[in-house]
Amino acid sequence: MGKRKPFLTVIVSDSRDVWIETMTYNGNHFWRRIRNLGSFVALGLALALGLAIGACAQQPSAAELPAGPNPSQIQPYHLPPAKLAQAIALGRIRPLIHFGAELWNVGALWLLLATGSATRLVQWLAAKTRLRWLESALFSGLLAAFVFLAVDLPVGAIGHFFSLRYGISVETWPLWLLDQSKTLGLTLLVEIPLLMLAFYLMQWNWSRRRYWFWFAAAIVPLLLLFTFLLPPLIEPIFFDFEPLSQSHAALAQQLERVVARTGTSIPPERMFLMKASEKSNGLNAYVSGLGASRRIVVWDTTADRMPTDQILFTFAHETGHYVLHHIAKGLTLAAFGTFALLWAVSRLAEWLTRRFGKGWRVETVAALPGLTVLLLAFALLQIATEPVESATSRHFEHEADVFGQEAIHGLVPDPQKTTVAAFDSLGEAYLDDPNPNPFVEFWSYDHPSTQSRAIFAAHYNPWVAGQKPRFFSK
Ligand SMILES: [Zn+2]
Repeated sequence: MGKRKPFLTVIVSDSRDVWIETMTYNGNHFWRRIRNLGSFVALGLALALGLAIGACAQQPSAAELPAGPNPSQIQPYHLPPAKLAQAIALGRIRPLIHFGAELWNVGALWLLLATGSATRLVQWLAAKTRLRWLESALFSGLLAAFVFLAVDLPVGAIGHFFSLRYGISVETWPLWLLDQSKTLGLTLLVEIPLLMLAFYLMQWNWSRRRYWFWFAAAIVPLLLLFTFLLPPLIEPIFFDFEPLSQSHAALAQQLERVVARTGTSIPPERMFLMKASEKSNGLNAYVSGLGASRRIVVWDTTADRMPTDQILFTFAHETGHYVLHHIAKGLTLAAFGTFALLWAVSRLAEWLTRRFGKGWRVETVAALPGLTVLLLAFALLQIATEPVESATSRHFEHEADVFGQEAIHGLVPDPQKTTVAAFDSLGEAYLDDPNPNPFVEFWSYDHPSTQSRAIFAAHYNPWVAGQKPRFFSK
């Protein structure tokens, strides 16, 4: 719901609201990288679609706003003066960290190649073992560990430093390091087999010409499997979960009113409480999983600190992701995008090798050091395609906002007021910049800015004469 979606999200979040943001989240690097490897690239077909969506989805569509002054006379997103100053400061720091991390990711891989280190490492490994599979496994592991230790860990530490300083995170450094070590373990577990697979696909006769295609064909089912296993297997590594009704029976009952209004069924056993408060002061809820593992998760901070009306909206927004099948749609886009992205990665990697390979001592992509070039091409394309991914995510988020606001109609006295108040709470919890740079927002925000969400909510009243709700008939 908020900006920080914990975990994967595939191309779209909420796969996270489901999908997450990260200055505050741990385990986040891991998911970002999974996304990178698999859905990361949901680009190609998604590219054309995303560009179209992006044009209209970055800000809520003006056509949806009733003409004239804000009819509800609600002041959209505002912060107390002290918080405002902090939010403005963080509004400068966050993009620096975000874009700095992307550039450093490219820079670190480039250095690995330009210094000849990748090739020397392979030669050293070859001298140590004659087992080719072991050599490729060790190189894949060292490469993945290098990116994690040189890029993810320091960037994450900078983010965590500011998160602590501004009171968003309350996770101690030892606990944070423990989470990072778990993330490293998971990263190696996933990336070593994937990098080895890419390497062998480039070697085998039957697949060497179209290795990107076969790699994508292998990634797509893995992406589904990850999404399915995320809630039962991976998320509990970082947080404790319990059925929402166990400690918040009254709240769960209130939420059932939202579910009843949607006309579908989300049984109570698919509602979970996540114990986020030991690590974060943030407020969040998200939808996660696929098929039998699909669920709505509410952070305990949200359940305990947000007024009930606002929780109803937050939950209704998540219900929107659930009911509108945003995870399945995101995965579908990711599947097509993966093929397009990996094709582009292979072409770019081959071009980079032709252009710079001599200096790097890398003759071909289809050798172990070539995996470094593949990762570099991937990092470059990740930056280039980020706006598509962001716009697609913002589109789903806006849809869930509309759904959520419509869903609480009749359940709270004034849906416009409640929704704006919920965005105030979220914005204050994360110190969201009230006036983000439009370029930064367009390029990197996976949710519309809190300001634009609140402005839309303050104006959105489809129950007045001449207007029609989008998802509910009454
Ligand atoms: Zn959402």
